[in-house]
Order: sequence, then C-alpha cells, then structure tokens
Amino acid sequence: MQLQNKIREIQDFPQKGINFKDITTLLKDSNALKQMIDDLCEPLKDQKIDLVVGPESRGFIVGVPIAYLLNAGFVPVRKPGKLPAPIRKYEYELEYGTDSLEIHEDAITPGQRVVIVDDLLATGGTMKATAKLIEELGGEVVSMQFLMELTFLNGRDNLKGYHIKSLISYD
Ligand code: 5GP
Repeated sequence: MQLQNKIREIQDFPQKGINFKDITTLLKDSNALKQMIDDLCEPLKDQKIDLVVGPESRGFIVGVPIAYLLNAGFVPVRKPGKLPAPIRKYEYELEYGTDSLEIHEDAITPGQRVVIVDDLLATGGTMKATAKLIEELGGEVVSMQFLMELTFLNGRDNLKGYHIKSLISYD
C-alpha cells in the first residue's frame, strides 16, 4: 500500500499558502495505520531503544504504538504549561517571535537511548528543541523518525549530526 495516498492535502490550512498534510485519513484506515507503525518501527528493532519521545500532539499518536512494539517507554514533550511536575524548557525562534517546548525533568535517566518520532519534519525547529531537551537530561538521541518530510524546507540542515529517516518525502 502507498501510505502517501492515504494522506489528505488541505490547501490554505491553518493559513494561506500552507498545503497541510492531514493524517486523519491515514489513521482511520486500519491497514494504513498498521503499516505506518510497522514501517517506522522496522529500523529501530535492533537499536536497543529505551525511550520513545514524541512532541505534542501528533508525536503522541505515532510514538506510543512504536514504544509499545519496541518494549520501550514513552515520554511526551509538550507545549508550555501542560506538564504537571517540574520541567525543563527550551525556547526557539519562529519567523515572528519565539515558541517553547517542555519535558518533565525526571523523564530521562542519563545514558538512556532515545528515538524521537513525529508525523512530519518541516523546518526542524520542533525536533531540534526536542533533541536539546533530551540531551540536557543526559539522554542519547539515537535517531529521529518521521512519517513525512517537506524536503524543500531543509529541516535536515537544522539537525546536522542526527540520524534522520522519513517514510515519505514531499519535494
Ligand atoms: P517544524 O518544527 O519542523 O517546522 O514543524 C514540524 C511540526 O509541525 C510537527 O510537529 C508537525 O506535526 C507540525 N506540522 C507542520 N506542518 C504540518 C502539516 O502539513 N501536516 C501535519 N500533519 N503536521 C504539520
């Protein structure tokens, strides 16, 4: 099955000029959902992954089933103000202003092997912030795995030195 055919494209969402990749059409298809999770898991099976980290919110959807299949734990990285216990924060630049992501400071034990997963790599800002949070807590970022990658935004340039894999590329 071609997973790309299950992804719906919505013009001008959430703002004009953006061609949004909507994965709800893939998620509701049982075969496509299974294939996406299996394909993302495959290269990680022998990597001795301790933890899967997923950024809010589609990283949660993709990350938990992968963690389950890898016999790993799952850690959420969240938008500000959502996590209840003490946190570490990483602030990063947007085109206009800044944004930040947070992680529980006891979420990772130093030396743990971590994979980060998300639905889509665009500019790489979300991933860079997530990787910095993991490293600040002493985790080792073994790989970054995505369903989709918008290659024309050159997110990989923002993530030099990391192992990156995506199942689908949009040029
Ligand atoms: P980046 O930080 O790499 O610029 O953006 C990636 C983040 O934005 C991901 O967490 C992803 O979920 C979200 N995102 C940006 N554009 C899209 C899109 O077209 N479709 C989906 N599903 N997510 C997007």
